[in-house]
Amino acid sequence: MSSGTKYVYFFGGGKSDGDASMRNLLGGKGANLAEMSNIGLPVPAGFTITTELCTYFYDNDRTYPPELKQQVEDAMKQVEQTMGAEFGSQENPLLLSCRSGARESMPGMMDTVLNIGLNDTTVEVLSKKSGNPAFAWDSYRRFIQMYGDVVMEVRPEGKEEDGYELILDEAREAAGVEYDSQLNVEQLKEVVTKFKKLIRDKAGKDFPTDPMEQVWGAVGAVFQSWMNDRAIVYRRQYGIPHSWGTAVNVQAMVFGNLGDDCATGVGLTRDCSMGAPGFNGDYLINAQGEDVVAGIRTPKRIEKTLGDDMPEAYKQLCNIGETLEQHYKDVQDIEFTVQQGKVWMLQTRNAKRTGFAAVRIAVDLVNEGLIDKKTALTKKRIPADDLNQLLQPIFDPAAKNKAIEDGTYLATGINAGPGAATGIICFHAEDAEAIQAKDPDVQLILVRRETSPEDLRGMRIAKGILTAFGGASSHAALVSRQMGKTCIVGCSELEIDYHDGTLSVGDKVLKTGDWISIDGFTGEVFAGKVETKPSEIIEVLIHKTRKPEDAETFQRYSQLMEWVDEIRTMKVRANAEPDDAAKAVAFGAEGVGLCRTEHMFFSHLDEIREMILAEEVDTRQAAINKLLPFQREDFEILFKEMNGRPVTIRLLDPPLHEFLSEHHLHEQPDLAHKLADMVGAGKEFIYRRVEELKESNPMLGHRGCRLGIVYPEITAMQARAIMEAACNVQKAGIEVHPEIMIPLVGFKAELDNQTKVVRDVAAEVLKEQGVEVEYTVGTMIEIPRAALRADEIAETAEFFSFGTNDLTQTTLGMSRDDYGGFIGFYQENDIIPSDPFQTVDQDGVGDLMKIGVERGRSTRSDLKIGICGEHGGDPASVIFCHKLGLNYVSCSPFRIPIARLAAAQAVLDS
Ligand code: ADP
Ligand code: MG
Ligand code: MG
Repeated sequence: MSSGTKYVYFFGGGKSDGDASMRNLLGGKGANLAEMSNIGLPVPAGFTITTELCTYFYDNDRTYPPELKQQVEDAMKQVEQTMGAEFGSQENPLLLSCRSGARESMPGMMDTVLNIGLNDTTVEVLSKKSGNPAFAWDSYRRFIQMYGDVVMEVRPEGKEEDGYELILDEAREAAGVEYDSQLNVEQLKEVVTKFKKLIRDKAGKDFPTDPMEQVWGAVGAVFQSWMNDRAIVYRRQYGIPHSWGTAVNVQAMVFGNLGDDCATGVGLTRDCSMGAPGFNGDYLINAQGEDVVAGIRTPKRIEKTLGDDMPEAYKQLCNIGETLEQHYKDVQDIEFTVQQGKVWMLQTRNAKRTGFAAVRIAVDLVNEGLIDKKTALTKKRIPADDLNQLLQPIFDPAAKNKAIEDGTYLATGINAGPGAATGIICFHAEDAEAIQAKDPDVQLILVRRETSPEDLRGMRIAKGILTAFGGASSHAALVSRQMGKTCIVGCSELEIDYHDGTLSVGDKVLKTGDWISIDGFTGEVFAGKVETKPSEIIEVLIHKTRKPEDAETFQRYSQLMEWVDEIRTMKVRANAEPDDAAKAVAFGAEGVGLCRTEHMFFSHLDEIREMILAEEVDTRQAAINKLLPFQREDFEILFKEMNGRPVTIRLLDPPLHEFLSEHHLHEQPDLAHKLADMVGAGKEFIYRRVEELKESNPMLGHRGCRLGIVYPEITAMQARAIMEAACNVQKAGIEVHPEIMIPLVGFKAELDNQTKVVRDVAAEVLKEQGVEVEYTVGTMIEIPRAALRADEIAETAEFFSFGTNDLTQTTLGMSRDDYGGFIGFYQENDIIPSDPFQTVDQDGVGDLMKIGVERGRSTRSDLKIGICGEHGGDPASVIFCHKLGLNYVSCSPFRIPIARLAAAQAVLDS
């Protein structure tokens, strides 16, 4: 009997030592092999050596604890008994595989060795026993190849050619066949001899013939592979701690290469691109292991032909798929082998899926009674951000088919940002800016070898981004996800020549200005234009060009959203101006959390410039009065659209030079003249005023409430416009709830000053109109002082709204317009974990928010508090806001569904 720590866990025969809950100890693969066996699925017996052993191995100069040997021998006996074969036997030899398996799957990062136990003797026994010498020798040559590579490290380095493949190439050529599986016994024997010689020459020692030595060699190599460069880089990228270690699974072999009633395959219990039900996947007849994914032979589709090729096996697989889903309550990604008509399970795990599939699968599983609504909505099932994919434009399927027929398909890369984009090719950010300056509506695709922060401006302009290099977490992929742009990266077939301004694939050459189309769902690139159309949900909700009952994706989406709204406790509002109000409501906004009044000013530049230029109160007042009707009208539209929902209106925030600066005078040569005429002065006067308005650090300059304090007539006009609009709309029978918000307050006295102006005007208006309108006056909390003095500020403020864009800028002392130059570097080098303008910096900015909430509510216990920075649409930040006890988050209309889901997930999280 063995003693000490238990490092070895048997699985198989329906009575495993472990189960699925032991993933940390046994790794995902080992835990699920044990579980599958326990629920009666056919799993070849084997044993798992724990991740703890891996830790021991690395803590003790890569040696094993003394008790391991006996534990392995005991487990091996159990495997032999279960499988009715004996390892190393001359009569009935058992063969083994040795496989890695960490807590989180690390696809392709570590090694596997198959067919362990073969040598010159056992291969002959296997040959006779199976009556299939070609199979035995095929297995043997595979074993030597894998073992030589993984354990004896005889493998190509750098650009060196693969010695094993060269030998196989020669053999196929000599035999005049296309595939390795077509080689006959004699030819395979020759390959084996050559493989052995290659190993002896390169490794300086012979291939080991003792089966037990082979096992220990393979086990050691798998533990070693935890620390190979590939694996280390991968873990760093995905934040997997090196300390977790991998488990090793040693398992009885089953054979997919015994003949035409055998196969190897991978499958999904449902489609994971769009989520349709039905088992699907790839298989290869008479093949072993990863032949299916290696791309040597083109695999067949399970759902199409397996039913004809192997009806019995197909039935078994479908049943297994159902059992697995019933048991794991989620879609599974499986690996299997068919040996003489019998299906054996080699792996299962929860499948990765797109946003579309995530929604469909979650809804379907609830409707099938497999999971409840709460489970369906968890972060693990539907990452809130992935909802975004459902809202992106798509290629018109007919147009795409036509493009394929027309031969305009170019290449396929990694689909890094879902959606469809068509535009003219542009290689440089500066060019993109120049083109856009001439044509603001230009559609362009930024094509780069790779992108860097200098390309940000171009990426912002582009409809889509296409790169030749880089993977799913490259700069291009990251940024486009953040910007919500369609993106394909790592499209390695593209030859990009910046100098000539060309992009080529083989003999197809496109140049700057040519049209190109990229499908971010599939990674496909087409020359020329492919027409896009809005996604189904947008067609139903926004354009109303499609009926809900004809839109399946929409129906599932709205079903999901119903559940979301049942669960969440935090409200979701929109950052919206009158133009987007209808859209916001369609997406489910429960109010406006931020209406930026300056947006309205940009359409009345003459009047606002007249106001800015005025040096006397009277003339300023006269100019401002001209703006009043425009503002009032806008607010009326907004109140009507929001139909009784609360509307937070922020008073003028940006510095005045945003409306009139040297830049404007430079861009429009006759502007100075026109303005001079307008105010009845000379051009010098215009230049002087522009000079006076200039600031060296506008972010910290004369803006926000500082404007209203110096020019109270602006605040008064805006308050009047809001209140008159409210009265008019209320008189028309529509409820109104205006919330007037003072920006950039740091001192209570600032808020007092502006509140008085607002309240005085409001009282006047209500009296004039002879109605009662309920309204509140509150403030943004967007500079640290306001958060710190929140108790005092709440004496005046009836509500708070965290302006986390400015709060982040002022807390971190980091300008949102200038951080692009270093933020990428910061993230790559783990200086800060995430982009603080995308996800709230919880330790710093978040702490100020916490202080703001606590102190604010210490004065006014029912203080309504929201957030209106970009962070309001970021799932992690939404969850944080829930924890802080905020009443609502506010975000751009397109992110409302995401914020709603995240708000529900916040409840499920806690
Ligand atoms: P990865 O984690 O890279 O998928 P695996 O350990 O799953 O590596 O092994 C890769 C493949 O090798 C499996 O999908 C399966 O086809 C084959 N394989 C592994 N173990 C066995 C076995 N005991 N019998 C037959 N094939 C096996
Ligand atoms: Mg696998
Ligand atoms: Mg602000």
